[in-house]
Amino acid sequence: MDPFKAGSAGVDTIIGLTGVKLTLQSTAGPVNILRGIDLGIEAGERVGIVGPSGSGKSTLLAVLAGLERVSEGEVRVAGADLNALNEDQLALWRRANVGIVFQSFHLIPTMTALENVAVPLELAGAPDAIERARAALRQVGLDHRETHYPAQLSGGEQQRVALARAVAPRPALLLADEPTGNLDGATGHAIIELMFGEAARLNSTLVLITHDDQLASLCDRVVHIEDGRIRSVTQGTARARPKAAE
Ligand code: ADP
Ligand code: MG
Repeated sequence: MDPFKAGSAGVDTIIGLTGVKLTLQSTAGPVNILRGIDLGIEAGERVGIVGPSGSGKSTLLAVLAGLERVSEGEVRVAGADLNALNEDQLALWRRANVGIVFQSFHLIPTMTALENVAVPLELAGAPDAIERARAALRQVGLDHRETHYPAQLSGGEQQRVALARAVAPRPALLLADEPTGNLDGATGHAIIELMFGEAARLNSTLVLITHDDQLASLCDRVVHIEDGRIRSVTQGTARARPKAAE
């Protein structure tokens, strides 16, 4: 893919944000969290999002996932105009198109690793949910942890389960918000390697928020956010996609 073409309007554009503003009302008055974001991302691209704490990165990701509604602007993601969907439609759209990995894993503590991965597949009506969940856990190297509960797993293992859960439905869009934030350096790098590998294997578009400039530079492009605006977009190292591990 030609990285210079990324962001141009075309049939392969999976994310198109135009003039996106998000303002929340607080007791102290309106808070402008996103102040006019224009961003186009091509299918299959890997885009890093960096910026200071409080600059709006998580809010932007929530907009892409259809978890936050914008105050102004267009939000087109994975074939849908998110502004035009009601909550039920958004939930269905998200289930079909989006996988999300959070900093704090967000696993369900009363469910085993296998159940955590299988649940979204079951919700999506997959008849072979358990088999696919098993395969996803195998893919992240956790087939020996199927019956373990989150509390019995290390942070790195919990994040692997979360990654397996996110990718098991084969989402077109994989979103990650500081996925290495609670992990040590080596464990975090292993998660990122897996995440890039899974995105490549599934041809998913990856949007990765990170504090780690080195991790961000592994992406095709890096979007620098400051105070609710895009300050600059730079090229990542755009290394060849890692070979899909089967
Ligand atoms: P980042 O992920 O870059 O650290 P966030 O997107 O979480 O930033 O937050 C951006 C700004 O919006 C911050 O100043 C934060 O305090 C504010 N903010 C986020 N959510 C809310 C909310 N629900 N109500 C009020 N302010 C919020
Ligand atoms: Mg954040």
